[in-house]
Amino acid sequence: MNVENTGGRLFGSGRCLSLLGLPGAAPVVHRMVEAMSQLQEEKAQLQEELVVLRESLALRDSDQQATSTQRQNQVEHLKEKLISQAQEVSRLRSELGGTDLEKHRDLLMVENERLRQEMRRCEAELQELRAKPPGPCPGCEHSQESAQLRDKLSQLQLEMAESKGMLSELNLEVQQKTDRLAEVELRLKDCLAEKAQEEERLSRRLRDSHETIASLRAQSPPVKYVIKTVEVESPKTKQALSESQARNQHLQEQVAMQRQVLKEMEQQLQSSHQLTARLRAQIAMYESELERAHGQMLEEMQSLEEDKNRAIEEAFARAQVEMKAVHENLAGVRTNLLTLQPALRTLTNDYNGLKRQVRGFPLLLQEALRSVKAEIGQAIEEVNSNNQELLRKYRRELQLRKKCHNELVRLKGNIRVIARVRPVTKEDGEGPEATNAVTFDADDDSIIHLLHKGKPVSFELDKVFSPHASQQDVFQEVQALITSCIDGFNVCIFAYGQTGAGKTYTMEGTPENPGINQRALQLLFSEVQEKASDWEYTITVSAAEIYNEVLRDLLGKEPQEKLEIRLCPDGSGQLYVPGLTEFQVQSVDDINKVFEFGHTNRTTEFTNLNEHSSRSHALLIVTVRGVDCSTGLRTTGKLNLVDLAGSERVGKSGAEGSRLREAQHINKSLSALGDVIAALRSRQGHVPFRNSKLTYLLQDSLSGDSKTLMVVQVSPVEKNTSETLYSLKFAERVRSVELGPGLRRAELGSWSSQEHLEWEPACQMPQPSARAHSAPSSGTSSRPGSIRRKLQPSGRSRPLPV
Ligand code: ADP
Ligand code: MG
Repeated sequence: MNVENTGGRLFGSGRCLSLLGLPGAAPVVHRMVEAMSQLQEEKAQLQEELVVLRESLALRDSDQQATSTQRQNQVEHLKEKLISQAQEVSRLRSELGGTDLEKHRDLLMVENERLRQEMRRCEAELQELRAKPPGPCPGCEHSQESAQLRDKLSQLQLEMAESKGMLSELNLEVQQKTDRLAEVELRLKDCLAEKAQEEERLSRRLRDSHETIASLRAQSPPVKYVIKTVEVESPKTKQALSESQARNQHLQEQVAMQRQVLKEMEQQLQSSHQLTARLRAQIAMYESELERAHGQMLEEMQSLEEDKNRAIEEAFARAQVEMKAVHENLAGVRTNLLTLQPALRTLTNDYNGLKRQVRGFPLLLQEALRSVKAEIGQAIEEVNSNNQELLRKYRRELQLRKKCHNELVRLKGNIRVIARVRPVTKEDGEGPEATNAVTFDADDDSIIHLLHKGKPVSFELDKVFSPHASQQDVFQEVQALITSCIDGFNVCIFAYGQTGAGKTYTMEGTPENPGINQRALQLLFSEVQEKASDWEYTITVSAAEIYNEVLRDLLGKEPQEKLEIRLCPDGSGQLYVPGLTEFQVQSVDDINKVFEFGHTNRTTEFTNLNEHSSRSHALLIVTVRGVDCSTGLRTTGKLNLVDLAGSERVGKSGAEGSRLREAQHINKSLSALGDVIAALRSRQGHVPFRNSKLTYLLQDSLSGDSKTLMVVQVSPVEKNTSETLYSLKFAERVRSVELGPGLRRAELGSWSSQEHLEWEPACQMPQPSARAHSAPSSGTSSRPGSIRRKLQPSGRSRPLPV
């Protein structure tokens, strides 16, 4: 059904037109009413159909349910049947088990086999049946029935699905129709309203027409004519009516649109009203807040005003009080000022006076300075002259002291021999061998008594030190010699004696209690320091050893290198050792470093240092070179500190090989030393320096004005008495040589060689070549002492500063 048709039918209702008395209006209304009733009928019919369909659906549902329950029952029934069949099978099986095997074995065997096969088949069938219980069971009437039922069920299910689809379609159609009905009803209402309007308009026109007809009837002929005209014009009016109807419809549409717009606008208006109301409420709220804030502000302002007033009042009161105090102060200050004025006046006067004085002060100062300067100058002159006098006196005294010192040394003899007895040590052991065999003279410190093989033997030397003597005591004795080294003398100090008698102890000492070596250097440093104002000194140190007549540098980089003693090529006759290392030392620390270095060299070189050192001569050569600052005079003094090899005689026990060679070399060099000393003390013309490396090296330190000290070390114990006797004899004989050159020389002859021969019976060593030279020789008068003197610039015998 479409709307235009409906509209057409509605407007064509004959009843309405007949009511209005208009031709053509009644059929429209009539058609409209018809359509409506038709629609109503359709609706009722559809509703009936719907009810029927619903009923059939319910019926089908119940059918379906019944069918499915029926089928379920059938399935259950089939299951039961299957179970009963299985039971039958099992029963048959049990029956088979009960067969009489003994009587009808063969028969039963066959039967049994058949039954087994049947059983297997049944089992297979059973399993098959179990596997698909709802499946078709061929040859079973129930299975056919079941299949039929299943087909029917599926068909019914299909039908049900179709019915459901149809139902939903119908539902949809009903819904659509209901919608359309509502629409149509709405339109109907509109049409009714329009119809009422049209009816009113038409009735108005009808009334007008009736009135016109009535008036026309009053004017009869022309009225007839008019009636006819009206009749004639009637189709035109109809046309106009349809046009007006169309326009009316158009207007209605517009009105609907306008209504819609109006509705929207009304909605907008309503929302804007709501917004306005909300805004108004907000404004009202803000206004109230503003008012409240304003009130608060006013309150605060008022309180602030009050505070301000109060503060002003307080400040005013305080200011008044302060003002009062200030006034009082001012008054005080004024009175003070009045009292200060006279003081100020006096101060100003003082200041002016001082100013005047200050102005005159530089002049006064200059005058004072001038006079003080003159006084100081005078005093300085006086002091200078005094100083000169003192210096002259000091120099004279110094010369005198040196003269005295030299005289003393000379009186003591240029060659002196002292003995030092070491204490008994643990190494000496115990028992009769370790008993003390040495005694001293309480009144004479140059006498020593030795008990040798029960016989007492006494010796006289320059000095004898008992075991109680300290290192310092011994050093005291040699101190004078060391000082003379600074004055340009050459000095030799030897430690002689058997191994273990204390040579190294006396020369080197221990770190806690150093011996002559370190003490000598310390003394040299302090002496040099004292003279530093007049003299410039340099002290150098060399260390060497002589082993098996080979000279080695102990401070060199290659201690194994053999060193040679050469004559200076300048023809001065001086000896020198090319390659011998010299270290300049300035402090005790330096000396210790040098000693340490020498010791390390020796230790690394020899595995058994003790043994080695007892068979070699160790030399520490200290050279003191001085320059007199005022005169330029130069002096050179050499201090040779020699720790000799052990003097013990090894030949007796029949030593051989290297030990024998060592013994021969030691003997040779010690004999040569004895020869040289003897020759020197007896002032012989020829001194056999060249007989050994040791004497050759020390030639210029042994000859001439040189001074020599021999410290003979003695072991006090019984077992060493024969060596002690040997050492003391050697010492005494060295000492006894001297005095009255001619006489002594004649007296002594070549003692040293003889003595040595006498004490070395077992050691069949060749005669040292020194002996050939040890005989007195009246030959050359060139004294070796001249070598040192050649150093002196003036050639004077004593290098004393003038
Ligand atoms: P040498 O060098 O003659 O072979 P040492 O100097 O090595 O003899 O002395 C041997 C031992 O005797 C060392 O242990 C040493 O300390 C000790 N000795 C030597 N003289 C003295 C002394 N005067 N006082 C104390 N101990 C000494
Ligand atoms: Mg030693």
